[in-house]
Amino acid sequence: MLQSYKCDKVCSGLVVSGSGEPVNNFNLQILRTDVSGMPMEWVNYQDAVRLYHIEQVAYTCGERLYVVRGGINARSGLRSQIEVHSIIATQGSNRSLHDSYIPPLNNRALFKRDANMCMYCGQQFTRRDLSRDHVRPLSQGGYDDWNNVVTACKRCNNHKAGQTPEQANMQLLAIPFTPTHAEYIFLQGHRVLADQMKFLLAHFPRTSPLHKRFNKLA
Ligand SMILES: [Zn+2]
Repeated sequence: MLQSYKCDKVCSGLVVSGSGEPVNNFNLQILRTDVSGMPMEWVNYQDAVRLYHIEQVAYTCGERLYVVRGGINARSGLRSQIEVHSIIATQGSNRSLHDSYIPPLNNRALFKRDANMCMYCGQQFTRRDLSRDHVRPLSQGGYDDWNNVVTACKRCNNHKAGQTPEQANMQLLAIPFTPTHAEYIFLQGHRVLADQMKFLLAHFPRTSPLHKRFNKLA
């Protein structure tokens, strides 16, 4: 179903929550997908409204997050409004993201990939107590890429120092892996809503370790 809106002065519009109450939490992210439903990126509600406004939204899924009210239409005398849902599919597709995509490596996404868990002692920590460990150390020819890095608490990382797990007599609890594009979108999310989580999980590879690590959140 194609939803189109004619709406003026969107930026000065009133924003209310999906239930009709005015909201001041504009931080909820909206998951944008391509027209085939492939997850693309997170957008804020202003970007989502813009996409509705230029009629780029092909269809929506998920719950209604915001209702943005625009100006009064001179011809109809009605106030225009745009309903922003948690997942919006936009026109066009980007098939190049399906294959051989390698997301940029950063600690925030890395720690989330490993569910904030030290991959040596198995305990969970806050982000500031975690570090990036190179399973095969850089000094021994290891690479700084997703398949050679794991989350480690600072204590375990110090103990391991410039050694491989075997040399340090430490057991690695899970094999590191490179996230797919859909997995990376999830890892970048700040506050992933339940319906967005469910949607993203359905796009993860069947064998993804993230199913086990995050399924309970969906
Ligand atoms: Zn540890």
